[in-house]
Amino acid sequence: MYPKLLQPLDLGFTQLKNRVLMGSMHTGLEEHKEGLGRLAAFYEERAKGGVGLIVTGGFSPNFRGRLHPLSAEFSKPKHAKAHQVVTEAVHRQGGKIALQILHAGRYAMHPLSQSASGMKAPISKFAPSEMNEKQIKKTIEAFANSASLAQLAGYDGVEVMGSEGYLINQFICKRTNMRYDEWGGTYKKRMRFPLEIVKAIRKVVGEDFIIIFRLSMLDLVEEGSTFEDVIMLAKALEDAGVTIINSGIGWHEARIPTIATQVPRAAFTWVTERLKPHLKVPVVACNRINTPEDAERVLEAGHSDMVSMARPFLADPEFVAKATQDKAHLINTCIGCNQACLDNIFQGKRASCLVNPRACYETEIQIQPAHTAKKVAVIGAGPAGLSAATTAAERGHHVDLYEKNDRIGGQFRLAMQIPGKEEFRETIRYFANRLDETGVNLKLNCEAKFDDLAGYDAIIMASGVVPRKLNIEGIDNQDKVVDYQTLIREKTPVGNKVAIIGAGGIGIDVATMLTEPQGHDLNDWLHDWGIDTDLTHSGGLYPHPEPISDMTVWVLQRRKSRVGKGPGKTTGWIHKRTLEKRGVNLMGGVSYESIDNKGLTINNRGKKELLDADKIVICAGQESVRPFEDKWSDLKDKLHIIGGADKAGELDAVRAIRQGLEVALKI
Ligand code: NAP
Ligand code: SF4
Repeated sequence: MYPKLLQPLDLGFTQLKNRVLMGSMHTGLEEHKEGLGRLAAFYEERAKGGVGLIVTGGFSPNFRGRLHPLSAEFSKPKHAKAHQVVTEAVHRQGGKIALQILHAGRYAMHPLSQSASGMKAPISKFAPSEMNEKQIKKTIEAFANSASLAQLAGYDGVEVMGSEGYLINQFICKRTNMRYDEWGGTYKKRMRFPLEIVKAIRKVVGEDFIIIFRLSMLDLVEEGSTFEDVIMLAKALEDAGVTIINSGIGWHEARIPTIATQVPRAAFTWVTERLKPHLKVPVVACNRINTPEDAERVLEAGHSDMVSMARPFLADPEFVAKATQDKAHLINTCIGCNQACLDNIFQGKRASCLVNPRACYETEIQIQPAHTAKKVAVIGAGPAGLSAATTAAERGHHVDLYEKNDRIGGQFRLAMQIPGKEEFRETIRYFANRLDETGVNLKLNCEAKFDDLAGYDAIIMASGVVPRKLNIEGIDNQDKVVDYQTLIREKTPVGNKVAIIGAGGIGIDVATMLTEPQGHDLNDWLHDWGIDTDLTHSGGLYPHPEPISDMTVWVLQRRKSRVGKGPGKTTGWIHKRTLEKRGVNLMGGVSYESIDNKGLTINNRGKKELLDADKIVICAGQESVRPFEDKWSDLKDKLHIIGGADKAGELDAVRAIRQGLEVALKI
């Protein structure tokens, strides 16, 4: 089915069973008190699911290289001993695993950070101190020491983190290396640091140990490497003894999205393709590859020898096994939302996954068969109801799923129509197939009535939300006003001037949808973000015209706080930048006075203003749908309320799907 993807890869001294590399991801378990045991369970499930080679999250080779004050280090024999639980778990399942060594350099969030030079990173609070010659040599030794300890711990290899703007990148690029000694100045001197690291590692680990180098192929920052530099470094790394070269795309300080859901699938594999002919060692393509079809396409097109996927293995540990067994339709696809993985990590929480709440909770959440099969009614086939129904049925319960519409999906069916959020369709596809597989009795076009519920042992209310009704003079003017659900569902014509009331996630989504350029393909997307596909400019960036939409759109909120970022911690800036590029007017601190045929009258910080909008779209949050609420007390403890029906104010797909799972495990 996927001949290229599932083909073994011979590395000479060892073989990988397929072309799938599970890319490095920090999970937050690395620093947890009982983290390594949990991490072992996390990786063991992925190894059992058939991944060819796993790479751990980044571990610092020394104290000063830690990303955060409490980030994990891998520098002492006690660390090697503690990690044996991880390597043994992976090997038990016939898998292979490499430890990633990551020195944060100037990205470190503590005052002891060090770098090639002393400039502060735009995304860090602390300016690093410039390393002296002795400190550089010590750091190289620290990398080699970590690799040697990794070998002792039973790892099959290491990955040297040389991309995303961390220390090694900081030595390589003019942007961050201002030195005039043997470690700076010419490109040959700037690339000495990574080469010395790889040579030192190879010396201590011998020939039969995997060394992956994560090479920044496209920095996406000014004064980054040219592609000629990248080729020169890659060849020198090969000579220095690396086994595999993995791709790195974009520094963390780059203002270009590289992995968010808005990024088209496999948008950057063309960069790896350009490097591949210059090398003999296998190269790995990555970024936004999330289905076996896309992975196969990348390999078939000859862009790389392996593909790296990271978040797709949070979403589904059995990704490879399902692809192998012709069950790709049952893969729980990563939708690139970042909402429970990176957003959690950026808030200092453990990573998980919006579509798979078990991710990183493998030892704590287990789906076991129920002692007694019960009759369960689930009301509402949105994300919460689907999660509850499929998990309950998987446990052996008899589940009827009532949905008053003619299809499943709830809010996800709206989300998938937003440009850049098409991936939500995959979750609906996944749940549709899971309903079949688990034997849920789906009742479409069927609104559950109180009397229907008499024979059930458990009733799960997942009836969702409706848009909030506002009390503004003229709000009932149907020619002028439309709520976001109707707009998205019915593609209501809006004219050229639109005022959006509400600047939450949905207001931002609607503004994006209305200003989306038509007929854009991958090349247009790369162009819009200023990415140089000819690879003639340093950092892979070129000055480009800012695309401006010909629509006039106002996005409004009453709060005075910043407008336009939406809720995503790691994606908010992308939304804001997209809207700014399209000339959308973002206005905070307004109040709404009235609506008439001329438009929307607002009070803008004390001044009356008419926005001559053709249409006013209401995106002002939601209210819970709670059918026959007056009779809920009669259902007593049989009733469980989840998702938007539970709390409309914090409507959140992460919570909805997790609540669905949790309630299904309780009954
Ligand atoms: P929301 O984030 O709560 O935003 C509601 C907006 O409406 C706010 O801007 C609020 O601003 C305004 N508002 C609230 N009450 C109002 C009233 N009575 N009159 C006028 N304006 C009012 O809700 P949402 O945009 O509907 O999003 C729903 C949920 O989906 C959110 O929890 C969000 O996290 C999630 N979501 C996430 C994403 C994502 O990309 N991660 C995208 C879409 C939705 P003021 O009160 O300041 O006027
Ligand atoms: Fe993918 Fe979203 Fe899950 Fe992260 S939370 S792994 S981006 S689906």
